[in-house]
Amino acid sequence: MAVELGLEEPGTLLRARSAQRIGISEEDIHGLRIARRSVDARRRGRTHDLRFVYHVDLDLDPVVARSAALAKALKSGRAREIESQVLFEVSEVDPMWRRRRVVIVGAGPAGLYAAWTLATNGVAVDLIDRGPALRKRGRAVARFTATRELDPENNLLFGEGGAGTYSDGKLYTRTQHPLAGPILQTLIDAGADPEIAFDARAHIGTDRLHRILPRLRRRLEEMGVRFHFETRLEGLVRSEASTVSALRTSAGEFPCDGVILGLGHSARDTLRSLAEEGLILEAKPFQIGLRIEHPQALIDEGRYGPGADLERLGHAYYSLVAKSTPETSAVHSFCMCPGGQIVAAVAQPGMLCTNGMSNSRHSSPFANSGLVVSVGPGVFGDGVFAGVEFQEGLETAFFEAGGGDYTVPAQRVKDFLKGRASSSFGRSSYKMGLAEVRIDELLPARMTASLRGALRRFDKQIPGYAGEEGLLVGVESRSSGPLRIPRDRETRLAPGFANLWPVGEGAGFSGGIMSAAIDGARSAWALLGHRESK
Ligand SMILES: Cc1cc2nc3c(=O)[nH]c(=O)nc-3n(C[C@H](O)[C@H](O)[C@H](O)COP(=O)(O)OP(=O)(O)OC[C@H]3O[C@@H](n4cnc5c(N)ncnc54)[C@H](O)[C@@H]3O)c2cc1C
Repeated sequence: MAVELGLEEPGTLLRARSAQRIGISEEDIHGLRIARRSVDARRRGRTHDLRFVYHVDLDLDPVVARSAALAKALKSGRAREIESQVLFEVSEVDPMWRRRRVVIVGAGPAGLYAAWTLATNGVAVDLIDRGPALRKRGRAVARFTATRELDPENNLLFGEGGAGTYSDGKLYTRTQHPLAGPILQTLIDAGADPEIAFDARAHIGTDRLHRILPRLRRRLEEMGVRFHFETRLEGLVRSEASTVSALRTSAGEFPCDGVILGLGHSARDTLRSLAEEGLILEAKPFQIGLRIEHPQALIDEGRYGPGADLERLGHAYYSLVAKSTPETSAVHSFCMCPGGQIVAAVAQPGMLCTNGMSNSRHSSPFANSGLVVSVGPGVFGDGVFAGVEFQEGLETAFFEAGGGDYTVPAQRVKDFLKGRASSSFGRSSYKMGLAEVRIDELLPARMTASLRGALRRFDKQIPGYAGEEGLLVGVESRSSGPLRIPRDRETRLAPGFANLWPVGEGAGFSGGIMSAAIDGARSAWALLGHRESK
């Protein structure tokens, strides 16, 4: 149930407030757990009446659990019953898996939590990733920023931890699944702040992720998982048409009894070659747009009002949506990073794609966010890979417009709105330089019109959003992938395969760290023969 506290009110009031809200006595609450905490920053008239909103799980006295007061609270929606927490372990594992080996492709969140689930249930796992282990990866990312030489196998997208390793480490997701709790607990056990278990805007930050990931790997190794970095999947060996008996990789063949495919959405080469080998892919809607940056102070003031207690509240974030009209497509903010840094999230030379990351303290003076337009399949031509080709075309155009060395095309928001080049820029968090480019002309006309409409609208919600200090860079082309590998609803197998489970963002079934992790774990459950009730 939801309970509100003023900014100055202590958490010890939660029990009394919860009891009051249901109409029971405080003593009838045997246990209280904070399931979620968020800041209500909505403006009421001209003022910002800031408060914390807590969702609490209560363990009630059995007599109260049958009381009229609780029945009334449940009926009115003030409270609801919840399932007890699930675990990674399944009650009955198909015994054949105890003698067999699964190869997981991809050490991103989907692959890691598929591995966690399988290893917890006693299955032998080899986990391969084309990129390197974290330490080597860190050196390559630093080298890329310094020299502008991109290593296509070792970068911000490929390697231990996957695409989320250099990120804001946001852990909130629209995917409501009981596995979220146990997944967050593994991160807490590996050193994450325990508040991630309930903070509605939980995030880890790139610096802490770099301490947590090696501990997670050590734990997985203790559970029997064998990691093979710098090992790229190149093809499938089949014993029969539907059964994969081994994977062809850059480090030789890996025999397997089952394959979990967690490639992420940037392995375009692998997806293309697997499609040639008969893996069915389909086009799906996706988003593409720009990244916008402001001083964090502008966002804090716009969301909280002047002089807010940032120590208590943390830096403000936002999530903005503009609906479609006959002339424009829907636009929304995506992956907003308070106190963050804009980065070139690229794996293919000659292409440029932006994204955002931050450290655990959100300490940079900039706020950045994707601002993306929804595009449906078929809009940019027919064919399964038409969306990928559209992404690649824009990424190449932005790379070249920036001068071909990862200097990012940039335009002030006010110039983007007026259709003119910017003559100078203030400071930005992007470390590889800004180039004055008419971004409004680089994007397709409808996309520019959609973004212009949305910027004007968002300026009403956050004063100054479309003003002097707003900066646009791009292209933000990987907020979601344009491909899906369809799969059976119940078994989660790829069509035509008896032992290949596509998971995570590359399969088109998730769009973030937590949703990918949950998807990987659920497919591991499906492999083990566990069927979920809904
Ligand atoms: C800069 C940035 C910031 C982000 N910030 C956030 C955030 O704050 N919160 C959030 O929820 N999401 C964020 N995301 C998105 C998030 O990282 C992804 O949604 C998530 O990582 C997807 O998980 P995945 O396991 O499906 O794929 P990935 O994490 O992409 O992992 C796929 C792995 O497969 C490997 N691979 C690919 N091809 C092959 C092959 N042929 N052989 C072997 N291995 C292969 C890759 O090396 C990679 O390690 C961010 C992404 C980026 C790029």
